Amino acid sequence: MSKQIFVFLGPPGVGKGTQAAKLAADLKLPHISTGDLFRDHLKRETELGLKAKGYMNEGKLVPDELVVDLVMDRIKNEDCNAGFILDGFPRTVAQDEALEKALSANGEKVSAALYFDAPRDTIVERISGRRTCRGCGAMYHVKYAPTKQDGVCDACGGETYQREDDAAEKVSERLSEYDNKTGPLVPHYREKGLLKEFDAQGGVDEIYAQVKAFAEGLKSQA
Ligand code: AMP
Repeated sequence: MSKQIFVFLGPPGVGKGTQAAKLAADLKLPHISTGDLFRDHLKRETELGLKAKGYMNEGKLVPDELVVDLVMDRIKNEDCNAGFILDGFPRTVAQDEALEKALSANGEKVSAALYFDAPRDTIVERISGRRTCRGCGAMYHVKYAPTKQDGVCDACGGETYQREDDAAEKVSERLSEYDNKTGPLVPHYREKGLLKEFDAQGGVDEIYAQVKAFAEGLKSQA
């Protein structure tokens, strides 16, 4: 059977990370979030983390060459042999070209791009209420998915915080980066017949039921 390679696409804060994590757990595939990889480098103060920091804090995309090498190294890992889920990558046409080139060298290709979208006011509300655990990266929302104890992660007891780039003044920059640089990937995947669109306005479980049904449908065709 060919590898299951899913790309999760959509604006920041739309909820694609939550959906990607659920699908990865169900399909037992690695969930590769470039945002998480960068935050980990930032925490460990690696050279890459220090290079990425300024861009991330400003809500800008990190330059392609830094991202591409990071992902290409990651997908060579043995745990990616059956496939993987890319969350937040590719985010530019150049990143997509690098991915396609690397995959085609091994006779592989993206199985599907799952595209999540919601009205901008919903996205802004989701991002500004989002809280993330410093310890395990679990995500919460002050209104829709609060922690049981204020500021304390339910899963690991770590401290929850608002990501610097989730602050209101950074959100419009992130959305404009998305519109200018990532948006063009939507028609690109559509033309290739790989795009599956999801309305991300509903509840997590309701959307996930659709995501899972789609992934299972693809598997049965493979
Ligand atoms: P995320 O957690 O996906 O919202 O990513 C947080 C930040 O990491 C982004 O605003 C970018 O600065 C950086 N980043 C993550 N993925 C990429 C990517 N594929 N290309 C460029 N920058 C990225």
